[in-house]
Amino acid sequence: MFNKILIANRGEIACRVIKTAHRLGIKCVAVYSEADRNARHVAMADEAFLLGPAPSSESYLRADRIIEICKESGAQAVHPGYGFLSENTEFANACERNGIVFIGPPSSAIAAMGSKSAAKAIMETAGVPLVPGYHGDDQSPDTLKREAEKCGFPLLLKAVAGGGGKGMRVVESLKAFDEALTSACREAKNAFGNPNMLIEKYLTQPRHVEIQVFCDSQGNGVYLAERDCSIQRRHQKVIEEAPAPGLSDDTRRAMGEAAVRAAQAIDYVGAGTVEFLYDVDGSFYFMEMNTRLQVEHPVTEMITGLDLVEWQLRVADGEPLPLKQDEIKIRGHALEARIYAEDPDQDFLPATGTLRYLRTPDESAHVRVDTGVIEGDEVSVYYDPMIAKLIVWDDSREGAINRMVQALEQYRIGGLKTNTRFLHRLADATPFREVQLDTGFIERHRERLFAPGRLDLDRCLVSAAAWFLELARKGDRIRGDEHSPFSAQNGWRLNSEYARPLKLVVGDMTHELSVRELPGEYEITLSGASHRVNAQLEKDALQLVIDGHRLTLHGYQDGDNLTLFHEGDQFICRQHRDTFAETDQGAQGSLSAPMNGAVVAILVGKGQQVEAGQTLVIMEAMKMEHSIHAPHDGIVSDIFFTEGEQVKEGDALIALATDDEEAA
Ligand code: ADP
Repeated sequence: MFNKILIANRGEIACRVIKTAHRLGIKCVAVYSEADRNARHVAMADEAFLLGPAPSSESYLRADRIIEICKESGAQAVHPGYGFLSENTEFANACERNGIVFIGPPSSAIAAMGSKSAAKAIMETAGVPLVPGYHGDDQSPDTLKREAEKCGFPLLLKAVAGGGGKGMRVVESLKAFDEALTSACREAKNAFGNPNMLIEKYLTQPRHVEIQVFCDSQGNGVYLAERDCSIQRRHQKVIEEAPAPGLSDDTRRAMGEAAVRAAQAIDYVGAGTVEFLYDVDGSFYFMEMNTRLQVEHPVTEMITGLDLVEWQLRVADGEPLPLKQDEIKIRGHALEARIYAEDPDQDFLPATGTLRYLRTPDESAHVRVDTGVIEGDEVSVYYDPMIAKLIVWDDSREGAINRMVQALEQYRIGGLKTNTRFLHRLADATPFREVQLDTGFIERHRERLFAPGRLDLDRCLVSAAAWFLELARKGDRIRGDEHSPFSAQNGWRLNSEYARPLKLVVGDMTHELSVRELPGEYEITLSGASHRVNAQLEKDALQLVIDGHRLTLHGYQDGDNLTLFHEGDQFICRQHRDTFAETDQGAQGSLSAPMNGAVVAILVGKGQQVEAGQTLVIMEAMKMEHSIHAPHDGIVSDIFFTEGEQVKEGDALIALATDDEEAA
């Protein structure tokens, strides 16, 4: 076995690989960019080398530097993780040329699956069922349009070099085809340097079911059951589970065998995943093969009790597969939720910022947290905004869901937007519990999943008031000064005779409360009702008894802003001070950039009449395109940027006047 390996990656997957390597007594070399100097993966490794500046192209994608570092450090093998260089044939070749073992398949196998269209052609020959469509080399718009008509609508345009949902467009009708093609090609060219497209019939209610395969260099191949990854947003996985609920043993075997056949058709070695669409009628179609360890591999580990990174290391070292097909058993049910820095309410726009407050559930036989960050770390624009993977296991699916719901309630993040509340809603949604799974799940259940917070507003306001009161009281105690200017300034100088006002701002609403301090408790009045509140604040935990109801909330305070966490929901408010000027709302009628990024296309001209919902500007951030739509009918009165320019979040992009304003 190797005694030293290099991990050519960052974040949670680098940490996860190091964990197994260390368990096997293998030393680990990490690499890092300037942005990751203090990252967890760097701290966990035995040694670490700087690659270069933050952008991936100057750091984690620097194949030449990584090979050099292998030689310098004496690393015998490279684990590429997922993303970055994991499916880069040149890198795999370069490793081989330099006598370094690439912990992954041979470069020929990566190449065979590197193009979705070429992969489909190989699978066709191997007798693996395909989604009908076009995967030819002729890429002229006319041919594509003709093939689109032949295929019928709705159809899916997919970048042949694609991944991560980029360069993919659902096209509902012939009328929409040209615009979708232009946009998909542009996104694909930007993200992958290759604008080529394939066309597939768009299945309207499929499930995404994928098979984990493993092959050794002796020619053995096995499948390690399947994962259901149907819960997706923007064609990207959000919650994954294993095994796929409701799949019959026969189907599992048929898919597993097709997947192993697919892998063996390209002389595969190592861990791979064959993705299928599983249709309502029980038929399944090959979609693509990912020639690496997948993000969601932990759910397979939880139900098989195996360590897939250990298998990868053994197979890369030339050992045969540790188990035969009939020795692989599955037990119980596992779920994984991907915790992202993003805003589900803004079409899952990636978020950036500092993880100012971070609490994770305790790990156990039932709960696993794979993460690459700690409190205080930054989620930057440079890399994928995934914060962690939360994985749970139990005997039954129902038990696993309960565990997931509970663990998400214990996962508390402050300082930037995340999807934890959304994940909690998803996992707890009745249709999810009832296995109504397909890739349209999130869209179909929008109302339920995106509804405003379930928390009772008055109760939250009372709790927030108690937080601020307790904090002020503690501040007094620490200072030993009953009349400190600090407390006076906060307005918390209380005694039983006077009721003091307290203003809390939620969104753009100001709520007026009044507070009296009684012996051992507060009387907090709002909306004409008085509540008796006993409160105790210990670090971030607020123990409350409100009118006899005892509960615990957790909170994170940043200046006057408070976030309270309760049962997977969050309540955010601000303590209002009268001296504060209201913040500038920005120019009226202007549309601003929702994030840092580049303007890739401006689809309207100055003076143009536009309709509500019409796409005005296309921005790109993190290699994904985001459309900015007109909020109402109107006339474009100004355009502040040109195509290709970089903009910052909040920059005004376009001024849109209503027809009356324009007339005036
Ligand atoms: P990527 O490599 O960009 O992730 P995939 O080919 O793996 O793209 O597809 C991602 C997701 O898009 C799938 O999990 C599925 O939800 C959806 N999808 C892909 N092909 C089809 C299709 N033909 N019909 C319906 N949905 C599809």
